[in-house]
Amino acid sequence: MIPSVLPTYSRAPLSFVKGEGSWLIEADGRRFLDLGSGIAVNALGHAHPALVAALSEQANALWHTSNLYQIPNQQALADKLVEHSFADTVFFTNSGTESCELAVKMARKYWYEKGQPDRTDILTFDGAFHGRSSAGIAAAGSEKMVKGFGPILQGFVHLPWADLDAVRAALSETTAAVLIEPVQGEGGIRTLPDSFLKDLRALCDETGTLLILDEVQCGIGRTGRLFAHEWAGITPDIMMVAKGIGGGFPLGAVLATEAAAAGMTVGTHGSTYGGNPLGCAVGCAVIDIVMAPGFLDGVNRKAGLLRQKLEGLVAAHPEIFEAVRGQGLMLGLKCKVAAADLVKAGYDNLVITVPAADNVIRMLPPLTITEEDISEAVARLEATATQVAAA
Ligand SMILES: *Cc1c(COP(=O)(O)O)cnc(C)c1O
Repeated sequence: MIPSVLPTYSRAPLSFVKGEGSWLIEADGRRFLDLGSGIAVNALGHAHPALVAALSEQANALWHTSNLYQIPNQQALADKLVEHSFADTVFFTNSGTESCELAVKMARKYWYEKGQPDRTDILTFDGAFHGRSSAGIAAAGSEKMVKGFGPILQGFVHLPWADLDAVRAALSETTAAVLIEPVQGEGGIRTLPDSFLKDLRALCDETGTLLILDEVQCGIGRTGRLFAHEWAGITPDIMMVAKGIGGGFPLGAVLATEAAAAGMTVGTHGSTYGGNPLGCAVGCAVIDIVMAPGFLDGVNRKAGLLRQKLEGLVAAHPEIFEAVRGQGLMLGLKCKVAAADLVKAGYDNLVITVPAADNVIRMLPPLTITEEDISEAVARLEATATQVAAA
């Protein structure tokens, strides 16, 4: 008999009843150090007092009105995002997938309005993850994601990861945009070199092609800047955001320049829940905290500490680990044993990591993790590696 919850997930036998900062607690009191943050969602950890206050206050005042009316904290959050980024304008969604949908629509509409309706192709890359909608799976294009779900949305051209020559060769008079993650998350914590992003921006400029960045996982302070592309000193035309921006409340956004958004006029797009008062109250609190003086400096300091300790772990267990990769507090350990076995053994040692493609375990701790908890987490990973090595 089919389970009452559609069985699309492979779930670990863990069940949490409470979260406190970087800790997740089961009903029996077992305390796990959380290096997963619900896949980069709980950017400020669990039950951050400022987020609890923002959500409670809004919950007591007003939950939902629809986008038929003005929503003051949606306006406030858009203003904050515009102030702190390349963007001139923001549309709010409820998830990364919905942000992908709009990014693709916006890019195609841009060319349509320019009188070039044949410019519809989006160039994407191996190992990409952009969500599970028809556009999201078509963008990723992997057999695993699209098989059985045809007909697949047309107009995506799949290229090898970080291959500039392949981009150059693929750009044509039908290309609307290039879509890429500055740091691949699901794909195994693969970081684009700054030089690649710079060259890609230049290629897009030469050909008028729009550059869409998917910062759903790597954005909102994760790499030590508000957005990962800032390290390369470039800006996109369109950017997808979600995960960390809501700190655990479902919230996403598409940020764009005025030029790229030119086709998105009244009636061309919408969302029932997108930018609702609850989500935007929390989003405002998240941005205020991440942009507070010193916060990102702290992320970078802690990222340096975690990376250094993980390098030590790799050196101590060359039979288990190959290398550390990633940026900021978005780090991966490339494994020599099955990454899934390490994640599972981590549960025995009360430390949570997240598996990714390319046999990598991901570490995406809350940006608020303390140095003490970083040391404890790596000690637990050490015990985990020792356990797997002995097995
Ligand atoms: C998680 C993720 C998505 C999809 O986000 P959902 O909120 O699950 O729809 C898209 N792109 C990237 C890079 C992601 O990590």
